[in-house]
Amino acid sequence: MSSLWSTIVSTGCVIGVDLGGTKLLAGAVDPALNVHHRATRPAHGLDQAALLDMIVAAVGEVRDAIEGASGRVDAVGFGIPCMIDLERGMAVMSIHLPIADLPFRDVMAERLGLPVFVDNDANTAMLAEWRFGAAAGVREAAMLTIGTGIGGGLVVGGALQRGSQGAGAELGHMVVQADGPPCPGNCPNRGCLEAMASGNALGREALRLAAERPQSGLGEALAAGRAISGPLVTELAHDGDAAAIDAVAVIGGWLGIGVCNLVNMLNPDVVVIGGGVIAAGELLLEPIRAVVAERALSPAREHVRIVPARFGAESGMLGAAVLALDGIGSPS
Ligand SMILES: [Zn+2]
Repeated sequence: MSSLWSTIVSTGCVIGVDLGGTKLLAGAVDPALNVHHRATRPAHGLDQAALLDMIVAAVGEVRDAIEGASGRVDAVGFGIPCMIDLERGMAVMSIHLPIADLPFRDVMAERLGLPVFVDNDANTAMLAEWRFGAAAGVREAAMLTIGTGIGGGLVVGGALQRGSQGAGAELGHMVVQADGPPCPGNCPNRGCLEAMASGNALGREALRLAAERPQSGLGEALAAGRAISGPLVTELAHDGDAAAIDAVAVIGGWLGIGVCNLVNMLNPDVVVIGGGVIAAGELLLEPIRAVVAERALSPAREHVRIVPARFGAESGMLGAAVLALDGIGSPS
């Protein structure tokens, strides 16, 4: 038996679940934040019953893998893309998934037979990055998770901020263009950062550039019938395709406007950029930093560090695990 597995056997582990707008990632995590088994599932286009069944099956797969190796699972933590009533564990409102008005914590605890802890997915991402990652050791931080939509997390005065009802820190719904396109899902606003700079917005911008520049890598991918998705755009951008790089830069420019607002409002030490789209790396971060250097107020703009999530697209899952470890009083 490896020493890693010995750790699990002696201390147990928890399962962290990041439920995104399009996919779920679950992982078995020990108190030292080692990930021992991962499961992913598509989460798009399911009704509530099918979605809950899928979640139970994914957690079951991870649990079976751990218990099959004589490990022990003590609790499950969830990061879900919802406004959450933390006291009751209720999913109050969700932009992207059919889980509004659901007593999510109690339903999952009953179906899984384990203690369950739940928070907003961007809050769990912020939690992982603040405690162990790119924002470790600071008292003022913000995080944007760029995926299907844009989630937000805030640490102010050395504490995670959720607002008076748990509905705060929705940084993806700050307006960056007053007469911009309608925000997707259940948001009644227009021109939100999420409408301009999400993974979906990146796909849209890339599609426009592909049609405009048929000789580019993006244009050729479109002509070949490939779906112009965020991951493809990121891949082509890393390969040096100018059209794909431009698409990422457009999104980075809008994110820069959003980060300017955060810098002027909060004077943060660190702004962490995470979610699937951070796979674009410096191609995304440089345009953000350029806009902040040009348009945010001094001295906050010189002070702030704008950095990628240490845990990449796994911050939300790891933070959900940290939530569960905290919940059962494990020294993570
Ligand atoms: Zn919005």
